[in-house]
Amino acid sequence: MTAKSTAPQGYYAASSETPAPRATLRGDAQADVCVIGGGFTGLTAALHLARAGARVILLESETVGFAASGRNGGQIHTGHRMSQPDLERWLGPIHAHDLWNLCEESKALVRAQAAALAPEANLKDGLIIAAHDLTALRELGEEAEYLNKHYNYADARMMSADETKLLIGATYHGGKLDKGGGHLHPLRYARGLARAAEAAGATIFEHSRARRVETSGGKNVVQGKNGKVTADFVLLATDAFSAEIAPQLAPYIAHVESFVSATAPLPPDLNAQILPTDAAVADTRHVLDYYRKSDDGRLLFAGRESYWSVPTDIAPIVRSRMLQVFPMLKSVPTEYAWSGTVGITVTRLPHFGRLSPRVLFAHGYSGQGVALTSIGGKLMAEAALGNSERFDVMARVPAKKFPGGPWLRKPLVAAALFAFKIADAF
Ligand SMILES: Cc1cc2nc3c(=O)[nH]c(=O)nc-3n(C[C@H](O)[C@H](O)[C@H](O)COP(=O)(O)OP(=O)(O)OC[C@H]3O[C@@H](n4cnc5c(N)ncnc54)[C@H](O)[C@@H]3O)c2cc1C
Repeated sequence: MTAKSTAPQGYYAASSETPAPRATLRGDAQADVCVIGGGFTGLTAALHLARAGARVILLESETVGFAASGRNGGQIHTGHRMSQPDLERWLGPIHAHDLWNLCEESKALVRAQAAALAPEANLKDGLIIAAHDLTALRELGEEAEYLNKHYNYADARMMSADETKLLIGATYHGGKLDKGGGHLHPLRYARGLARAAEAAGATIFEHSRARRVETSGGKNVVQGKNGKVTADFVLLATDAFSAEIAPQLAPYIAHVESFVSATAPLPPDLNAQILPTDAAVADTRHVLDYYRKSDDGRLLFAGRESYWSVPTDIAPIVRSRMLQVFPMLKSVPTEYAWSGTVGITVTRLPHFGRLSPRVLFAHGYSGQGVALTSIGGKLMAEAALGNSERFDVMARVPAKKFPGGPWLRKPLVAAALFAFKIADAF
């Protein structure tokens, strides 16, 4: 078994066309809006702003799709990670319904954007949530029923253990098939968004880290190493890395390193047996397994994570978990393995807000950003264009701080997440 990836985005980089290098920021530039971060959030914001006629400059510290947006599991989930009944109890039914509607809009938007701007991302419908125990199965069923009854959500249905086994090729207690979920090739999608934003008039600078945001003469000034951008609005779309440029956000965002791998293309018999309908799968564990097939017939399997550092050899760690789920893959090598940083919040809801009246941020999608970033970027764009009503639906969700202060926060969060990992074993 060898891992042959050297690119940080592993198989995704190897299966995408590499765009021509973009310029770096040099000297002084002016814009209506400066977007910091070239992942799904920032690119979607830049696209919508440029289409509305705003002068947009996006600064990316590495290259487009370098971080989570170019490395993720590609899975499109329905709703937030907090259930709708819990959201209703916490925020009241009106706010909870508004949040649900934004989630549904984000799925529609990612589908529309992928179809029009990045068909090569091969977005496919269908996500199975597989129950690892009977309690999880019961909860999935209750949730599906609740969403159907109170939110008219009819795209999901429960499956028996037998049907789940048929659609996955592995054994679970049952599952929920959500036709409203799906999956795509994330790096191709990010690059497609970047192309479209540029075609609409946005300027993207790569290898252009924003070092700090200052205010001068009523404008915001984003300082880089060799230049600066003066803009009316600044949109921070840096997800897990937000605290590096805005230390005041550090208490609200924690990091988890999640590991992803790609096998060699499956032989025909295993290709027919594993995920025959091409749905993606996420299971119900705290440290979940999530997987799907690529369009060239590999199993892209993600499982295991780290809260502290990235191990030097990820492939064997993910592979041992994959073989527990799919023992028949013993003779199929793992060809790529990589990791990415997931930005998570205490509530597992994304955290939107303002550092000052015209410096906005959206981060902390907590593993559900493939869809939710599209609404994150769109709502930030709407706010910068003068209508912040919908941005504020998200910004009104109270943010909670991770405990521990600057020194103890990281070990405490790691310990708490490790405890979840232990809980999965029982
Ligand atoms: C391994 C992995 C698997 C995942 N799987 C899924 C999944 O299956 N489904 C799902 O819904 N979600 C998943 N997620 C989460 C999802 O990928 C993210 O929520 C989403 O991509 C966040 O997009 P973003 O644009 O907000 O941030 P990012 O994609 O992280 O983009 C932020 C960008 O900002 C840049 N940057 C940072 N600081 C600066 C600075 N100072 N100046 C300039 N640029 C800067 C970074 O280089 C980066 O490119 C996964 C994440 C990971 C890491």
